[in-house]
Amino acid sequence: MHNAAFKELGLNCIYLVFDVLEESLGEAVNGLRSIGVLGFNVTIPHKIKIIKFLDELDDSAKLVKAVNTVIRRDDKLIGYNTDLYGIERVLREVDELNRDLGLIIGAGGAGRASAIALTNLGFSEIIIANRTFERASNLAEQILELGFSAKPIPLTDLPRYASSANLIINATPLGMAPSLISETPLKRDHIRRDSIVLDLVYNPLRTRLLIEAERAGACTISGLKVLAAQGAEAFKLWTGIDPPIDVMYSAALKALRGEKI
Ligand code: NAP
Repeated sequence: MHNAAFKELGLNCIYLVFDVLEESLGEAVNGLRSIGVLGFNVTIPHKIKIIKFLDELDDSAKLVKAVNTVIRRDDKLIGYNTDLYGIERVLREVDELNRDLGLIIGAGGAGRASAIALTNLGFSEIIIANRTFERASNLAEQILELGFSAKPIPLTDLPRYASSANLIINATPLGMAPSLISETPLKRDHIRRDSIVLDLVYNPLRTRLLIEAERAGACTISGLKVLAAQGAEAFKLWTGIDPPIDVMYSAALKALRGEKI
């Protein structure tokens, strides 16, 4: 999607993908610093471990405690979290979003970005469900410290809280291809007709959770929208140019469908 936007804007830039082993992360970061890249993204499993190799963190990365985008300014590498921006942007586009109760499933990097996004959107209450209860508890504590109402719950209580949530965000890999594709954190019976369900998993495009939510009559949002929005923000940080997000979204969609971009 980045290369599609570079092409559309006629920019002489290229986005490349590398597999980096955990033990080589520091060397890889210093290599990127030396060759003078505009910046780079970092994904699972390096979003937290990368922090010690960077010079500065933007507030977004400090709040989420994870980095997905790095920019090089002079000889400094600065870490950002554009997942936070992407989630917030996509939710701001929802007409008449009811901000009473937001339920987040997951308390890893994406779960934390979701929770901060909901505070920025002014949700009255944020429920955090996670497999490891302690992580949900720590995140809820951070949200409380920011002055918002938050409650951690174990995954077993999910159906009960889901039935009253206005917004549900899946921030776990449940439903993701290939190995977790048949999983869903919730079934249709526990999803309100008038709720919004955002699945951060974007492969497949229609996850089991989104299918369950559609069957319940809820409004669904695919994680691909967030992927494009977080990518657009990273693009802007690297180049100073607002990219054509629709071009990025279509390129990502084609890539997912195995079509030529
Ligand atoms: P992460 O930091 O590794 O966190 C994973 C979270 O999922 C943790 O809360 C973990 O619970 C939970 N989890 C993992 N396996 C589980 C299982 N089998 N059953 C129940 N809970 C499980 O990963 P992340 O960066 O937050 O990413 C989470 C998902 O969001 C991934 O699928 C990723 O692709 C997606 N994502 C999408 C976008 C986007 O742009 N659309 C952006 C970021 C992430 P524990 O704490 O118990 O381990």
